[in-house]
Amino acid sequence: MASPSAFSLLRFHRSCLNMITMDDERSLPQIDIATIVVGELETNCYLLIRQDTKEAVVIDPGADEAPLREALRGLVVTDILLTHAHFDHIGGLLAVCAAAPSEVKIWGHQAEARWPADPRLNLSAFMNPDAEIKMPTPTHILEGDGCLSCLGGKIEYFHTPGHTPGHMVYRLGEAVFTGDLVFSDGVGRTDLPGGSHDALRRSIRRAVRPMAGSTRLYPGHGPATTVEEQKLYNPYFV
Ligand SMILES: [Zn+2]
Repeated sequence: MASPSAFSLLRFHRSCLNMITMDDERSLPQIDIATIVVGELETNCYLLIRQDTKEAVVIDPGADEAPLREALRGLVVTDILLTHAHFDHIGGLLAVCAAAPSEVKIWGHQAEARWPADPRLNLSAFMNPDAEIKMPTPTHILEGDGCLSCLGGKIEYFHTPGHTPGHMVYRLGEAVFTGDLVFSDGVGRTDLPGGSHDALRRSIRRAVRPMAGSTRLYPGHGPATTVEEQKLYNPYFV
């Protein structure tokens, strides 16, 4: 497992892309987080940007290729992390890969490895048959919990089924990307194929609730929050 202290969240400020700056006291790379809201379902796509090398990690490249391309200008994307493979979280996969100067690693869970390429599994076939989505499948398969190396540091990952069977949560220092597991004061749907209300409840209790109260949660939709706030307002954290 990665040390959560690999990066620490020191300050927060907003710009047009909601930039957050993460500095490390031991002069580890400075990482900025940018949020881009994309598509009809207003999915949060997150960019983790290492400022000294301009390398970037993309979490959930949803729809709207144009703003994604614009945000990635001047950056070298090395990795794409998928929280899950519903259409609104993967629609920009091809565009991000095409814009990268070299091969990009795509990380996703074993249980959803075929979903990006299958419109029935990623649900795009049911939303708009004229806009079925067929995207590249993960090049790197995740199972269980662990950590991966990128941007000169470590990102922890947690298997958190419930919204989907292969849902993942990613943690970089005190920033946690919760996909459609946890929202501010709510949780993701569990009535879609492969969903499980009991599994979702267990995943939150196992992976997210034990984290420090100050841990900042960046969901797949809506505003960021903290573990502390969710313990006050989210019944799934009781
Ligand atoms: Zn979803």
